[in-house]
Amino acid sequence: MKLQHKLSLAFGLFFVSVLVLAALGAFSIHRLNKATQVILVDNYESLDYVQEMFRSLDTDSMAVFAYFLDKQLQNITEPNEGEVTQSVADAFHALPTGDSTAKKALDAQIRSGLHQILDINQSAIVSKSEKAHKSGEAAYQLIAVLSTVMVLLLFTFLLNLPGYISRPLTDLRDGIRQIMQQDYSVRIEVRSHDELGELTQAFNEMAQKLDFWEHSNWAKVLFEKKRIEAIVDGMQDAIIGIDELQNVLFVNPVMEKLLGVHAEGLIEKNALELALKNDLLRQLLRADTKGELNIVLEGKECWFKPEILDVGSGSHPLGKVIVLKNVTPYRALDEAKTNFIATISHELKTPIAAMQMSMRLLDDDRVGKLNTEQKLLVQQMRSDHARLQRITGELLDLAQVESGQLRLSLTLTPVQDLINYSTAAVEAALRDKNCHVDVTVDPDLPSLRIDPEKTAWVLVNLLNNAIKYSPEQSTIQLKVQKKGQFLAFSVKDEGAGIDAQYVDKIFDKFFRVPVGKSNATEGAGMGLAIAREFIEAQGGQIYVHSEAGKGTAFTFQLPFSDVEQIA
Ligand code: ADP
Repeated sequence: MKLQHKLSLAFGLFFVSVLVLAALGAFSIHRLNKATQVILVDNYESLDYVQEMFRSLDTDSMAVFAYFLDKQLQNITEPNEGEVTQSVADAFHALPTGDSTAKKALDAQIRSGLHQILDINQSAIVSKSEKAHKSGEAAYQLIAVLSTVMVLLLFTFLLNLPGYISRPLTDLRDGIRQIMQQDYSVRIEVRSHDELGELTQAFNEMAQKLDFWEHSNWAKVLFEKKRIEAIVDGMQDAIIGIDELQNVLFVNPVMEKLLGVHAEGLIEKNALELALKNDLLRQLLRADTKGELNIVLEGKECWFKPEILDVGSGSHPLGKVIVLKNVTPYRALDEAKTNFIATISHELKTPIAAMQMSMRLLDDDRVGKLNTEQKLLVQQMRSDHARLQRITGELLDLAQVESGQLRLSLTLTPVQDLINYSTAAVEAALRDKNCHVDVTVDPDLPSLRIDPEKTAWVLVNLLNNAIKYSPEQSTIQLKVQKKGQFLAFSVKDEGAGIDAQYVDKIFDKFFRVPVGKSNATEGAGMGLAIAREFIEAQGGQIYVHSEAGKGTAFTFQLPFSDVEQIA
């Protein structure tokens, strides 16, 4: 039964009981009242009339007697009362006038009749009051029984109803609290089939669904975790995850091998503390590791490139993931390529030298005279040959640099020697373009302990580029200045400049500003890459300052020590 119906029934029962009790009480009181009234009105009036008739008999007032006899005749209420009254009336009407024996006999008869009426009415009063008393008693008993039943019912109701409603509500409150603490195993006993029972049932279903959802979600998360772990574990690269408090979260087998520590010795340990005893980890955490790391792994020499990925945002860092990319295969390929280039360019050197000899012989009148056209062809061959020689030279230099076989032969070299050699080397090119070099050298510059050949090569390359990328008849400025412990050589041209987007790439191997953006057509993009290696190998730096349309200035600076100062 529904709670609503139960409550309606209970309150309805009370309402009906109160109504019945009230009606019963009112009815009983009314009945008692009526019975009392009957006694007063009927029997008392008869008693009164009889008294009056006695009095009128004593005073011989026949008219008064007749009056009250008449009244009594109309107030017959009890059995026998009518016959007795009628006999009194008959005797009264038979009364003769005057004083006689017959009158006395009749008078006695009348008095006896009146006494009978008195008795009848008095006994009626007694019996009626007894009856009223009895019905009052019965009403009292009925009301008492009904009241007791109602009080008992009300008491039971009062005792049970609050608990009946509040118990499931308390259970629900506790259940909801457990759900809030993510304990989805909670279930509540269904105590009834009313609305509270339905509510409890609905709660249980919800908890069951949450339980199922959590377990299936958890299983999903676990599955994903295992999958990611499998991927991380299967990686060729070494990987380690560290949280924002510097505790190690995960590590894969390659990283375990590189660090030389088992996962158990790493996971949930503080990385900074571990780094105190582990050189590689210390190097990785310093985050300033540039270039590639050479590590011997299982007896093989391997190369790893560190990559550090910060997880989370700047204000909410969540830690970092350090990946050591295994670049050993790429390095092997790169090495093979360098060897190949070195071999090829070395092999080309001999035929190129032979070609030079042949061209010189061709050009020699002693061998045979050439006509003008043939002379032009030989000239063209000489220029192509020079290009070929330059490119093979550059390739060889690059191969040498890349294979780490760059040998420097350091000599104390005066700046002016470098300037003289370089300007002389570009004279022909300057003539071709009608350009000239404006040289400014600070006085009293120290000599440099450098490899003069390689440094001059750089300077010549910068001057050649300046000429190549400058318009005809322009001036190229060559300046040498002292800057702290360095001597700075700068070559500035009046050419088209370099677009900002390419400036950073200019020193990369084989990079050339895309055609159309530059007026150059010749070259393989190796010159500046070699120049940087040559300068850096000597402890110097090379950089560029250029703006599109405003010319380009290349500067390289080399260190000198006070000992090298010319006295
Ligand atoms: P390349 O042999 O192609 O000149 P470099 O390494 O010397 O190779 O130069 C790389 C690229 O840098 C060139 O292709 C050119 O686009 C650009 N570059 C070098 N010097 C200058 C310069 N003075 N002005 C404008 N662009 C230049």
